[in-house]
Amino acid sequence: MAAFSTRSLLILTLLLSPALACFLGAHGLTRNASESTSNRPSTEKRWYSVHQLDQVQDPAAVKGESYPWPVTCNRRGKDTVTVLKYCFVGQRDADNLNVLLAHAISGYAYAMYVSTLWFQLDDHCKGNPHVYCDSWGIDDDTLRIVDSSTADPSEPETDWVNYYLREGWDLDNGPGDGNSLASAGYDYYSRFKAGRHRLFFGHWNKDMIGNEEARYTATATLMHELGHVIGLLHEHQRPDRDQYLQFNCHNLEGYKEAKEQLMEDVYNIFPKGMTYMERVNALCTTYDAAKAYLPQALDFARDDKMGVYQEQVYSRSYDYDSIMHYPSYMGSIGAETGTYPVLMRKDNGGPLYFGGTPDIAEFELSRGDIARIAQLYRHPSPNAEQQAALGLVKWAPSPMRVKVRDAVVDFETTVFPPRASSTAAAKREL
Ligand SMILES: [Zn+2]
Repeated sequence: MAAFSTRSLLILTLLLSPALACFLGAHGLTRNASESTSNRPSTEKRWYSVHQLDQVQDPAAVKGESYPWPVTCNRRGKDTVTVLKYCFVGQRDADNLNVLLAHAISGYAYAMYVSTLWFQLDDHCKGNPHVYCDSWGIDDDTLRIVDSSTADPSEPETDWVNYYLREGWDLDNGPGDGNSLASAGYDYYSRFKAGRHRLFFGHWNKDMIGNEEARYTATATLMHELGHVIGLLHEHQRPDRDQYLQFNCHNLEGYKEAKEQLMEDVYNIFPKGMTYMERVNALCTTYDAAKAYLPQALDFARDDKMGVYQEQVYSRSYDYDSIMHYPSYMGSIGAETGTYPVLMRKDNGGPLYFGGTPDIAEFELSRGDIARIAQLYRHPSPNAEQQAALGLVKWAPSPMRVKVRDAVVDFETTVFPPRASSTAAAKREL
């Protein structure tokens, strides 16, 4: 990516290899109730071991237990790693997305360096992305990756929506971005095992090869989706966001049409005596109304209003630069022309950019994103830089040279600590 250069001070090799052995049950982490109410700078999703969950009849009973997911294990007795395993569901998926995924993973290099997070193909793929998710031995908690860019309803095998609905995948359960969709962490409430940890990606296809901007956009979007699968939620949906954000729901595409349907109420969700204005207000602020009449609003509405996410912790600082924050014109009726913003900053009235930068080539994880990952995948005995990532001391200034490898790609890139926050207050707190 353009933000990277060849300067280097520190060499770090990240090998995305299948050699990493990881055993369920090897983790020793326990859930600490006091952590969930602290001021740790992290958005936290609770994790549970898949196998442990399967032993419990009532998923609600798992809540008080202490089984984090993904599993933490040791690599050759040295580095502690928390592995996000993935596989592709078929050839088209692997062919189209493997290289892009390697680029997106390399965008997490700094976060991986300061935490225990690690991305790799499921061991049972044996280092070959063309050993697919239905192969013997692929774990239940392995992330299933689907290329949803070339769906063709006339061909059953590429009609991904119908195919996966038929297979029992719950496409309606998880944050979605246009035609990309990922479960936020391991979705332990889904009754379909294979769909509990999934990523549908529809922002990249072969026609885009050679189009630099499309590649940067797709890489950025894939990094955002990877943020979801490791457990991060949308920053712009946090319960206190109204202090920081102006949400113009009326600028969302489809809003006008949705409004026209409210009095007729074909989905029969409003109480009879509810006035038109009350229904309009409910459209962008309540789960049932938005889901029925304006589903795209679900990705913008405040989480506490939606009642979808219960277990999360936010930083004290609001992070406008987070890769988990939508830009101003996403979903807008003026998306093409840069008019009618859906989201605006409240602190300076300015627009929001994906990854905190107007130049998509410079898209990168923010300080806040890295702090969250460092917290969520906390290193048991952090060195100075890992300590810094937790927000305890200043960020380390040194760039690092990182080598990323998997079965298809092998390239080196230099990553820098995240740039300064666009918010002075956030800078102080981090
Ligand atoms: Zn999202």
